Amino acid sequence: MRALVYAGYGATPEVLRVADPVCPPDGVVITVGATGVCRSDWHAWKGHDPVALPHIGGHEFAGVVVAAGPEVTQWQAGDRVTVPFVCGCGQCEYCLAGNAQVCPRQTQPGFTGPGSFAEFVAVQAADANLVSLPSSVDFVTAACLGCRFATAFRAVTAHGRVRAGDWLAVHGCGGVGLSAVMIGAALGARVVAVDVVPAALDRARELGAEVTVDAGSGSDLAAAVGEITGGGAHVSIDALGSAAVAANSVRCLRRRGRHIQVGLLPGGPVPLPMDLVIARELEIYGSHGLAARDYPPMMAMVADGTLRPGLLVGDVIGLADVGRALAAMDGLAGAGMTVVRLVA
Ligand SMILES: [Zn+2]
Ligand SMILES: [Zn+2]
Repeated sequence: MRALVYAGYGATPEVLRVADPVCPPDGVVITVGATGVCRSDWHAWKGHDPVALPHIGGHEFAGVVVAAGPEVTQWQAGDRVTVPFVCGCGQCEYCLAGNAQVCPRQTQPGFTGPGSFAEFVAVQAADANLVSLPSSVDFVTAACLGCRFATAFRAVTAHGRVRAGDWLAVHGCGGVGLSAVMIGAALGARVVAVDVVPAALDRARELGAEVTVDAGSGSDLAAAVGEITGGGAHVSIDALGSAAVAANSVRCLRRRGRHIQVGLLPGGPVPLPMDLVIARELEIYGSHGLAARDYPPMMAMVADGTLRPGLLVGDVIGLADVGRALAAMDGLAGAGMTVVRLVA
């Protein structure tokens, strides 16, 4: 098959002919229809998140099953599917309880093994991890779900428990933040979007934010959000991932509010205002993907047009352009998600 391979961290990825993936006994091989290019891929390529070299990245994909192992009971060749970026083992106490997103034996195509910047990708424990793709959802749209959109969905719904009329503050309007804005607005929340980039705030307004706040203006962010919301947000999400943003997100909450940490914090522990957590009885959550079992409500909202992740797509590129797209992430994120289309 053709695949985008890099031999070393930061080395220019090349499209090469490599062996097709072997189908695991409990897994499937999928023809990749489309696959997203994500900052997590950039982190792996740069060596921040170690992978076995040479490596094939890519973890946000949708496609068609071409082969299923003998232990697979629920899927067969021809099925249109997508897969969470965290694949559970399907057998441990967490997977059996429906929490494959935190499985201790999780696999992640594109990190723990070869990923979807290729014509084919293998997925283990298929019965636990595959998600059926309605015919109305195209591959490019489905590729947007895999990581950022699904993570935002879980943050807003399962952890945030956002209801119509609630104030939702979203800090950081990149892919996951804009997804949270769209999902919150679709659920009837009043969304306050926070960023330092005017274009990102414009995009947040287009996607449903009621109010935007420029965090670069130097004013007291918690006071600003408190004034806008009449006492603080019911739910606040750090969709960027920094010590300052995480702490600000907690400070923006009203009493009994919920902070959800979605942005990764690779630098290690960050201080949070735990005095406020006690005095205001705040809840703090981390959010790590979305288990396959929890995809159907989200997929139904995508299929009926309530959620439109396709609006988040920026550039649609070919496999040979992925190296350039990764290199472009050395700078600030561009507008929208970049998606690789392999099959029309
Ligand atoms: Zn498991
Ligand atoms: Zn991703």
